[in-house]
Amino acid sequence: VIKMRDVSKFYGDFQALKAVNLDVAQGERMVICGPSGSGKSTLIRCINRLEAHESGHINVNGIELTDNSESHDQIRGAVGMVFQQFNLFPHLTVLENLTLGPRRVLNLSDAEANARAMTYLERVRIPDQADKYPRQLSGGQQQRVAIARALCMDSKILLFDEPTSALDPEMIAEVLDVMTELASSGMTMIVVTHEMGFARKVADTMVFMDQGEIVEIGPPDQVFTAPKSQRFATFLKQIL
Ligand code: ATP
Ligand code: MG
Repeated sequence: VIKMRDVSKFYGDFQALKAVNLDVAQGERMVICGPSGSGKSTLIRCINRLEAHESGHINVNGIELTDNSESHDQIRGAVGMVFQQFNLFPHLTVLENLTLGPRRVLNLSDAEANARAMTYLERVRIPDQADKYPRQLSGGQQQRVAIARALCMDSKILLFDEPTSALDPEMIAEVLDVMTELASSGMTMIVVTHEMGFARKVADTMVFMDQGEIVEIGPPDQVFTAPKSQRFATFLKQIL
């Protein structure tokens, strides 16, 4: 469902992505790791057009990503994103955060949007928090709301950018548990994370990026036990 060919991205003179090729199949679970500044966020932000690539092709769910803004709306409908800092609306309750998009963008009625929101709040195991404001929740709960919000939009593909790195250690597991359940439900997921336990358990494909390039890609048991590149081997030693 995602095809990237020779994709390059520049910030001024700096090349953040260097002719990247990547294929993601329907239902595939991909984990991306790599040092700070290697282009992980840039890569996934190009997939939902939060960033524009300068050259190459990106096709997502049959939609070719070009400069025309129609394709951007289609993409944002199909691709949901979960950020490190949750990005919930602070002045809206949990329920309002979840129903805003479905009401405004998908034109659901209030009743339909509320019902859907409660379904997904149950799925992330916090239906009792529906009427609270984000600041009244723990970080782990806020991140689960952010995941529920993406699900409420009927996303076919979910992108996660370091979803647990802003969390206290005791809250990381509850978010990873929810993500693991999602993975077994057949959702197509690309997760930028350094949680290697999660990667081993959940990923079909493990990607290691360095300096704007995909240096290593393959099934976790293969790349973890026999890294082809010295850069990945060194990186693994540092984080494990
Ligand atoms: P981290 O692990 O720290 O999140 P990353 O792998 O996600 O790193 P990116 O955020 O994709 O890395 O950034 C890749 C490179 O592009 C970095 O060198 C960064 O400084 C640069 N960069 C990212 N965003 C911008 C921007 N808006 N303007 C200029 N340079 C940027
Ligand atoms: Mg990043």
